Amino acid sequence: MKIIVLGNKNSLSLKGYNTSFLIINNYDYQLIDCPPGILQSLSENNIDIKNVNEVWITHLHTSHIGGLLHLANYRYNVFNEKTRVIVPVYFIADLKTFFSVMNSDWENMIDLMELSFTNSKYFRIKKRNGLIFEFYRVFHIKKKFCYSIKINNPEGKKVFISGNTKFDKKLIDFAKDSNIIFHEVTFDNSQKNVHTYIDELNTLDLKIKKKIYMTNLPDKLPKWKWIIKRKTGLNFTKEKQEFII
Ligand SMILES: [Zn+2]
Repeated sequence: MKIIVLGNKNSLSLKGYNTSFLIINNYDYQLIDCPPGILQSLSENNIDIKNVNEVWITHLHTSHIGGLLHLANYRYNVFNEKTRVIVPVYFIADLKTFFSVMNSDWENMIDLMELSFTNSKYFRIKKRNGLIFEFYRVFHIKKKFCYSIKINNPEGKKVFISGNTKFDKKLIDFAKDSNIIFHEVTFDNSQKNVHTYIDELNTLDLKIKKKIYMTNLPDKLPKWKWIIKRKTGLNFTKEKQEFII
């Protein structure tokens, strides 16, 4: 299983792409989140967009779904193919609103996408390609759910993607058997109730921290970036970074 970091920036970035990942497993392509600029980031990574036929959504903030219409529209018009979008049932009302705000009526969008809704705090889906996706609901913004996703491959390797969440020790217990943990972070103490503050992430065991690659990064990292790396064991993701597990 190959994981490509298509973007690693937070919603206020002017210099990079918002956080999203491409999972490639035996020629099967799955996108985790679909931010603005997704067509460009896929193209810059030399990905054949025809292959990107499935999108998993962690939550409905623009920095995570702002490119969804672009991707679905492009694939439908260029390849005459629908894009499968997998979202939890909690998101359906907001998703409808989002499409209407974007000036696309819901019925039209149904023509572009296959929608699959599930309904639970935790659920797992086994794909035909052998991958198992586990969704774990986390707290991000009041009244708006977000889901973390753990992807298990048939060889027993796992990758965990936190989505956006405030720090949650139970979530770390769920994530810690993964080979790689992509975890969002903020360096701004006042964001603590919405995002995971760096000092909270730093309270974890070194063994876990060494597996953590931080996402949701600001354009300007704090000056103490290298101190964080040396003293905490936490890693920073880079755009276009590839992991093979
Ligand atoms: Zn968010």
